Amino acid sequence: MRLGKTAAATDPGRRRRRNEDSFVVEPPLFAVADGMGGAQAGEVASRLAAGALKEGEGAIEELIQEANRRVHQRSMEDPGASGMGTTMTVAVVEHGIVRIGHVGDSRAYLVRDGELEQLTQDHSLVGELVRTGRLSPEEAESHPQRSVITRAVGTDPDVDVDTLTVETRTGDVFLICSDGLTDMVDDRTILQTVEEKRGDLDAVVKTLVKNANKGGGEDNITVVRSEEHTSELQSPCNLV
Ligand code: MG
Repeated sequence: MRLGKTAAATDPGRRRRRNEDSFVVEPPLFAVADGMGGAQAGEVASRLAAGALKEGEGAIEELIQEANRRVHQRSMEDPGASGMGTTMTVAVVEHGIVRIGHVGDSRAYLVRDGELEQLTQDHSLVGELVRTGRLSPEEAESHPQRSVITRAVGTDPDVDVDTLTVETRTGDVFLICSDGLTDMVDDRTILQTVEEKRGDLDAVVKTLVKNANKGGGEDNITVVRSEEHTSELQSPCNLV
């Protein structure tokens, strides 16, 4: 399998002056990090975490642990950065498999056979309430505390990393994005956009960002995508 074109888009949205999201497009590795913390700490956290991925080596979980160490260490050294952290959703494409590592409420999706599947679990207060049946997915969408996350990179000396692997099939589309997209754009619209603009990498990420801004643009928005081709089948399989 070889990777083809890549595309990514990030935008501060309409309500926030700064963009605390970072992304990594270093095929075969792709990631989104959504930083949080006072003043500029959110930006620092997501950039430190992204840097750890770019410079690091090893399995996906080790990369995220290294990101955790760097962010946590800085937060201990710099009083202005105390308590900062970041989400981190990472995908590595290798030999017909996509490996995913995940902490926080950014998301990885898979579009397959005309359906959108959320591959990652949100480590958020509302995510846990939905999983335990105490909140419906619809209630979660408008919950006042929907931005409260329960697991982050950098807030503690160690972090639990969710990992999963997906065997790719021809025509698969993978999408990694921050909550600035998923809070503003529903799953149906995300699916529609991917399907309608399947052949155009840039158009998918730009249209998703545009839709998030149209929906209110209340947070920073980041979408990452790349396209891969299976060498045997010569058919496109996309990683967004
Ligand atoms: Mg966000």
